[in-house]
Amino acid sequence: MDVCPQCGSAEGGLTARQAFEDRDGSLGGPPAWEVAPPPAPAPPAAANSTGGIVLIVIGGLLFLSALYRSVAPAPGIEQFDDAYQAGYRMGGFVPAAIALTVGVLLQQRARRTGRAGSPLPDRWKQQMAVWEQARLCRTCKAAYWPDGVLRADIPASPLIPLDRFPLMVVTMAERAHGMQYAGKR
Ligand SMILES: [Zn+2]
Repeated sequence: MDVCPQCGSAEGGLTARQAFEDRDGSLGGPPAWEVAPPPAPAPPAAANSTGGIVLIVIGGLLFLSALYRSVAPAPGIEQFDDAYQAGYRMGGFVPAAIALTVGVLLQQRARRTGRAGSPLPDRWKQQMAVWEQARLCRTCKAAYWPDGVLRADIPASPLIPLDRFPLMVVTMAERAHGMQYAGKR
């Protein structure tokens, strides 16, 4: 039953979201800042590929050298045919383009795997799910989770003072989803 573990009232219960979104206090719940959802994690630090960055730098230097060679005076080159001259002038761009392309691809792959490898967003989603299930008693001005709302085998929580509410969201998320962590690693 969705009743407050302290006063037994079923009427007084608000969901955490209702209380949080009730900015003018008309529902009579605790102030919104006391029941705020878990803060979203900062995006994971951008992952870099060292090899990719080295190749991009080398590609940049090769490009500058190719640029120079394409316009710099080359005494005596007129005696060779046009194909040779074109090759001499433009040939330097090929290794530059290869180094730049491979470097950019390595860097993109590092960014993708860096993002996918971070466990933080999953954990935050679980905390959000736990937060969504929290109830707030308007009479006691405290939080609780009714029997079985987090997981069928997790019984009703005791009444939780609001200063401990953010910590309890994290703790209950670990408890409700802990088995999944153990299975994943
Ligand atoms: Zn109560």
